[in-house]
Amino acid sequence: MEQKHRMPKKRILYVEDNLQNKRLVYKILTAKGFEVLEADDGQTGIDIALHERPDMILMDINIPVVDGMEATSRLKASEVSYIPIVALTANAMRGDRERIMAAGCDEYLQKPISNALLVETVVRFVGTPQQDDLQKPSVQPTPPLIVTPQPPT
Ligand code: MN
Repeated sequence: MEQKHRMPKKRILYVEDNLQNKRLVYKILTAKGFEVLEADDGQTGIDIALHERPDMILMDINIPVVDGMEATSRLKASEVSYIPIVALTANAMRGDRERIMAAGCDEYLQKPISNALLVETVVRFVGTPQQDDLQKPSVQPTPPLIVTPQPPT
């Protein structure tokens, strides 16, 4: 039987302890065609990020074991520091945004999160949901310089 070519999906890790939020974000992102990985606490989030290398991480801040800021700091000091991390948090205290960004988060979304803003933010960081849409580098490589040997003058 001929199998139609299926493009692998980009994977978003969502680190969140609240079941309702998990269900909502899972629904929104899988409906758009992303694959969603989940962790209930910061330590599990770190372990999954290191092992699975998702394309992006959505990080709740108030999570058990290791909080979202600490988990972000550790990931940004690890070999997966290149993975974008977007904080999703209900924290609205003065200075929270600064502390979250200082921990190494690439972006900050305040709960309750609008579906449209969530999708827009994920797409901004990872592009389309399919893994092998070829993302052309914005800077074209310089062609190699060909040096033609000149006869001595
Ligand atoms: Mn939480």
